[in-house]
Amino acid sequence: MENLWNDKEAAQYPDDLDLRVYTSRLLGRDKSLVLHGGGNTSVKIRQKNLLGEEQDILYVKGSGWDLETIEEGGFAPVRMAHLLKLAELDTLPDPQMVNELLTHMTRASAPAPSVETILHATLPYKFVDHTHADAVVTITNTADGEARIREIYGNSVVVIPYVMPGFDLARLCAQKFAAESTADTVGMVLLNHGIFSFGDSAKLAYDRMIELVSKAEQYLAQQGAWEIPAAAAVPSAPALRGEIAALRREVSAAAGFPVIVSSHRDAKSLAFARRDDIATVSQQGPATPDHVIRTKRLPQLGRDVAGYVASYKSYFEAQAPHAKTPLTILDPAPRLILDPQLGLCSVGRSVKDAAIISEIYDHTIDIITRATTLGGFRALPAKDIFDVEYWDLEQAKLRKGGKAPAFAGEVALVTGAGSGIGKACVDSLLARGAAVIGLDIDPQITTLYSRPDFLGICCDITDETAIVAALEAGVSAFGGLDMLILNAGIFPGGCRIESLASSEWRKVMNVNLDANLVLMRECHPLLKAAPNSGRVVIIGSKNVPAPGPGAASYSAAKAGLNQLARVAALEWGGDGIRINSLHPNAVFDTAIWTEEVLASRAKHYGLTVEEYKTNNVLKVEVRSRDVAELAAEMCGPLFAKTTASQVPVDGGNERVI
Ligand code: ZN
Repeated sequence: MENLWNDKEAAQYPDDLDLRVYTSRLLGRDKSLVLHGGGNTSVKIRQKNLLGEEQDILYVKGSGWDLETIEEGGFAPVRMAHLLKLAELDTLPDPQMVNELLTHMTRASAPAPSVETILHATLPYKFVDHTHADAVVTITNTADGEARIREIYGNSVVVIPYVMPGFDLARLCAQKFAAESTADTVGMVLLNHGIFSFGDSAKLAYDRMIELVSKAEQYLAQQGAWEIPAAAAVPSAPALRGEIAALRREVSAAAGFPVIVSSHRDAKSLAFARRDDIATVSQQGPATPDHVIRTKRLPQLGRDVAGYVASYKSYFEAQAPHAKTPLTILDPAPRLILDPQLGLCSVGRSVKDAAIISEIYDHTIDIITRATTLGGFRALPAKDIFDVEYWDLEQAKLRKGGKAPAFAGEVALVTGAGSGIGKACVDSLLARGAAVIGLDIDPQITTLYSRPDFLGICCDITDETAIVAALEAGVSAFGGLDMLILNAGIFPGGCRIESLASSEWRKVMNVNLDANLVLMRECHPLLKAAPNSGRVVIIGSKNVPAPGPGAASYSAAKAGLNQLARVAALEWGGDGIRINSLHPNAVFDTAIWTEEVLASRAKHYGLTVEEYKTNNVLKVEVRSRDVAELAAEMCGPLFAKTTASQVPVDGGNERVI
């Protein structure tokens, strides 16, 4: 394990809290130490209050902050004197402990202090670092884990048996530390949980963490338990989009809301999912209680969602009666699925949630694989896991968790997504919480947005093979398709019929009509499998009801598409899929309308540019965003009972009216 401390960098952080930020970020950068909000750090600082009185303050990581990106404001300042008094209590229920922490901070706007705050306060060192290091967790999660830890560390660490995080753990650590620490003690190992290091400087505490974890890594290497096998060669995958979408539909039904399913079929995930002993090694339990909130107790093996739900319910029924307060079941859907073909599938209400789960499990694979080589991975008993999963503090967080966005867990595909109306549709759908697959012939689509819920694919929609490949990629990333926005089209220069070349006609038909047939045909099985029914929105044109001279191929293609949509509405209604069209006109904030083109068209009609842009009944300018917002609404509940509608977005056009 690499020590990332850099003297030059560190010199930029003059005081103790700055240095606390610096080494916290160093810890956060190594994902084998902490993942997504895991781990916590603190520093004890003596400072004067408003009245000039000296007091000791514990600055401890606040909840909602990630060590990798934490700032000074991410540390909650809590009065040490009160924390040390709390540590003397015999018992303190966790909700009450949280209240005590919140009411003894010196900054009202600070985040809630970590539930491990009292533990940090009781350790008599200025800097305290805590991680859930993979290597340490690997070793403690074996049958003789404790003995191995003592063999590796001797008396340089105090060993703490597993107790759920909260007041009881803080109290136990304080007692054990007082009784067992020696002059050589530099850390503390919490079995099935993680490791603490400490010191009087930020560097010392950090160096000790790296040294301690490196020792665990070296031990694993010496035992021949370090290498992780990867599937030798991943055969080129057959078409899996139908199977993934079917699985997502079932998982969504079990959860009670649409979910994202991301299928990871890299060599490592496939090798793990295809292990001969997968039914044993994957079904022991999570690597640390910290993971259970997100990943659930166990992954689902194979595609039997109903079987998983039944076993989750019986686990709940076996454990719930022992709880102090009556509990209701959380949604029983799996968060992780291991399948020999689909690899590692992570499930989340958002792409971000699913990505966090797959990253956690990527580390879990390392931990399980190494512990198995070491002699057998052993997780905590189901009861301990249940206590964390249904912890009153976590339950309170879940109850508080705000309303999900309109399209949470849903997936949309937009064609011509790189600019103009298509790009505006991407924005409107992302803003409503959908994951979006954007297709465009312009390669810049791949870098349009760098965010996990957008997948930009360079695709010529007149190429059927390219469309199929794009759907495979999109469904592998997000799990299926709920909304299809057919927007891509070309607008050729004006040309009267008598001089219209056949090649020009065919080209326009090919892009504006034929490609949409292929897209609709290929997307139909996916839309049919959408958990909340599929929706299609056609970006039509004013030219459908009111064609103009010189636009024969464009108008005929759009009229053909309009008729195709009407037939689809009839044919697909039985599958719950609704198809609605909107007919925009004179949308000028798109790539084809440069300043010069606008000026010359306006001049042609004897109008100013402003008059030309608002040349409609309402005298309003129609923008891409107006069209996109209507397209998004057509996918939402407002249009739940409408199909085959055609709505103009043109400011009112006398020829259409
Ligand atoms: Zn912890």
